[in-house]
Amino acid sequence: MVPPYAFLDGSDMPDGTDSSVAVTVAPPLPLRVGGFVPFTTTDYPDALAAVVFCQGCPWRCAYCHNPHLQPPRGDAEDDFARILDWLSTRRRLLDAVVFSGGEPTAQAALGRAIDDVRAQGLLVGLHTGGAYPRRLASVLPRVDWVGFDVKAPGDAYSSVTSVDGSGRAALASLDLVLAAGVAYEVRTTVHPQLTPAAALMRLAGELASRGVIRWALQPFRPTGCADEALVAAAPRGATLDDALLTRLSARVPIIDVRG
Ligand code: SF4
Repeated sequence: MVPPYAFLDGSDMPDGTDSSVAVTVAPPLPLRVGGFVPFTTTDYPDALAAVVFCQGCPWRCAYCHNPHLQPPRGDAEDDFARILDWLSTRRRLLDAVVFSGGEPTAQAALGRAIDDVRAQGLLVGLHTGGAYPRRLASVLPRVDWVGFDVKAPGDAYSSVTSVDGSGRAALASLDLVLAAGVAYEVRTTVHPQLTPAAALMRLAGELASRGVIRWALQPFRPTGCADEALVAAAPRGATLDDALLTRLSARVPIIDVRG
């Protein structure tokens, strides 16, 4: 009889006992970490935070400035256990840990990692694009603040992410965040080719219809972007003129334009 599990070396019970009465539980996979920033004041509002960059993202945004975090495995991953050890020696200095990416909700280990951070008495922030609504729903009750990247109006999502169906997942996730009562920020990266004025206007309407009253707009940053054509097409200086901002703020009243 073939047992319902296998040891890594393909053997049955290592000591020759009856495998049919054995129960094996696979050890939980550790969080795959593609980078770590020990101190930042810009990734969690009004808090000194560390940022854990989670490896892996199912989307392929042309403007991504962390393309090395897209594959499920990285070339140089950090050890999350070591990060936890480090955090335990710094918790009097830090307020929060932010899980960023990549897409943190791509990993089943996220919930356990959040619990490990909370056990150290630290706040938990989550940066997400909402690619995995079910996993997001499972971790939201344990998250203190969400930075939600909304890419485009629903019907144009795949033009940014290059993945069909991404808009459906993202908007379902946004609705979960809004319903959870958790503190959040909604933000959008602006590039004239991917998010032209007409798309921003439609997105403003979608956000307003969901009750979003504050929206951060981040002009495209070429740093780290692997798409040379997109970098070449990026305007220098302001990418959002006052007339457009006035029209957008008629739908979402508070608009923060990030430098
Ligand atoms: S969702 Fe974020 S990490 Fe993933 S490809 Fe887009 S910009 Fe990069």
